[in-house]
Amino acid sequence: MKLLLHTCCAPCSVYCIESLRNKNIDPTVYWYNPNIHPYMEYKARRDCLKEYTKSINIQAIFEEEYGLDEFCRNVIQDLENRCINYCYPIRLEQTAKYAKENGYDTFSTTLLVSPYQKHDEIRRIGEKIATNYNLSFYYEDFRVGFREGQAKARELGLYMQKYCGCIFSEEMRYYNCNPIQARATNGYETPKEPRMQVKKIENKEDYIYLLLEADPSKDMIHKYLNDSDVYALKKEDELISIAVILHIDRKTLELKNIVTKENFRNKGYAKTLLKSLCGNYKQKYDRMLVGTTENNIPFYVKQGFDKYEKTIKNFFIDNYKEKIKDGELTCTDLIYYSKDLKKK
Ligand code: SF4
Repeated sequence: MKLLLHTCCAPCSVYCIESLRNKNIDPTVYWYNPNIHPYMEYKARRDCLKEYTKSINIQAIFEEEYGLDEFCRNVIQDLENRCINYCYPIRLEQTAKYAKENGYDTFSTTLLVSPYQKHDEIRRIGEKIATNYNLSFYYEDFRVGFREGQAKARELGLYMQKYCGCIFSEEMRYYNCNPIQARATNGYETPKEPRMQVKKIENKEDYIYLLLEADPSKDMIHKYLNDSDVYALKKEDELISIAVILHIDRKTLELKNIVTKENFRNKGYAKTLLKSLCGNYKQKYDRMLVGTTENNIPFYVKQGFDKYEKTIKNFFIDNYKEKIKDGELTCTDLIYYSKDLKKK
C-alpha cells in the first residue's frame, strides 16, 4: 500500500508512523499546514519535522506555504466552525490532490492521533475527499497511542507546541486560563481562594435539577446517583459546581456528571472542583474515567484525562428518548478517556 500521511507536526507523527510501520506500511510524510501561525511557530514545527523524518529515515515532502492571509480570509466569517469548514478540508484536499497526482493509493493524517481534534469530523471529511479523488482514506484511531507518542517525543527532545496552530487557537490558550489556582494541603488539594470549599453532599436528590443540565435524563442519572459520591464547590454557602463520582472498582473511579450553575460558567470552576477531587482521590485510587461527547474532549484532556479508552457507538441514540444536543453537535457516541491520578 502506498500511503501519503498528512503530518501536522513531529510529536503527533511519532505514534502514527510507528503504528503504520508495525503494519508493514511505510508512509510518506506530507507537510502542508497553512494553519500554523505566527511564522516562527510555523518554522519551528516544520524544521523539527524535517529533522525528525531525517533521523528515522522516512520519505518526507514539504509544501512550503505559510499562508496566513489566505487562511484568515477563509475562516474569519465563521470562526466557531473554522476547523470543520476550512482547516481540515483544505489540508486533506491538498493531501489527496498530491496523492492522486503522484500515484499513491491512499492518504491519511496525523490529526487522527489528537484527542483535542474533532476526530469523527476528520474521518468524515477525509472519506468524502477520498471519494472525489477516487482514492481511499486510511482510517485508524491513532488516539490510543497519543500519550505514548507524546512521551516519546519529549524524550527525543522534539519541539512540543503549546496550541493547535492558528492564531485563534493561540488566543484560546490564554483565554481559557483558570483564575483560581489549586494548592496541596496535607495531600488534599483545595481551592486557594479562602471562601471556596469542596463539600460532600448527602441529600443528592436535591441537586437533580442541576445535574439534568449535563445529563438530561432523570432515568440515566438515577442509574448512577445512589452508588456515587456527590461533591459541591461552594463559595461561602452559595453552590457553584457539582460533580458525581462513581466507584468502579478498588482502583478506578468514573466522573459521571459535572456541571456549574449558569451564572458561574466559563470561569474555571468545574476545573477547580475536578482538580480538587482528583487530588483527594489519588490517595487511594489509580485512575479516573470520564465518558464524554466529542465537544468536551479538549476540556478533559487539558485536565489530564489524556488516555483514550474506548468509544461506545450510538450511546446517546440508544439510551435517550430525545435527540441530545451539545451546542451545534447532535450527540451520538460516548467517548471514554482516563486520567492517571498518580501522575505528577
Ligand atoms: S484550532 Fe487547529 S484545527 Fe482548528 S482552525 Fe485552528 S489550527 Fe485549524
